[in-house]
Amino acid sequence: MNEMTDCLFCKIVAGEIPSTKIYEDDYVYAFADIDPKAPFHAIIIPKEHISSANEITAENSGLIAKVFEAVATIAKQENLENGYRVVNNCGEDGGQTVHHIHFHLLARRNLQWPPG
Ligand code: AMP
Ligand code: ZN
Repeated sequence: MNEMTDCLFCKIVAGEIPSTKIYEDDYVYAFADIDPKAPFHAIIIPKEHISSANEITAENSGLIAKVFEAVATIAKQENLENGYRVVNNCGEDGGQTVHHIHFHLLARRNLQWPPG
């Protein structure tokens, strides 16, 4: 199996694994985190497989811009007027467990800084 067919989030985009959709466009999919760390916790991903922040290039960085356009759209859609946090975990020390780049959108509680 190659990394795309074996990838949990590629399977979610393909509808092979169920998810609770929060937002979708041609480039981006957002869904509810199965183990939420805040009262509102979305996972936002480019539909195209990029393994991690380390794999962002001049060729694919437009997809990351699309992710952040989606952040602004979701914040309005979900009335997150009190604020929110966007997190990307990269690599082992960053705590990345799913190797398809994703951005956590956390909201509806006071988020501590710095994180643990
Ligand atoms: P990370 O630790 O940054 O790689 O984040 C992976 C996130 O994916 C975690 O917050 C998990 O709770 C979440 N997750 C894992 N499997 C699923 C799933 N099937 N549906 C929704 N979220 C998931
Ligand atoms: Zn993938």
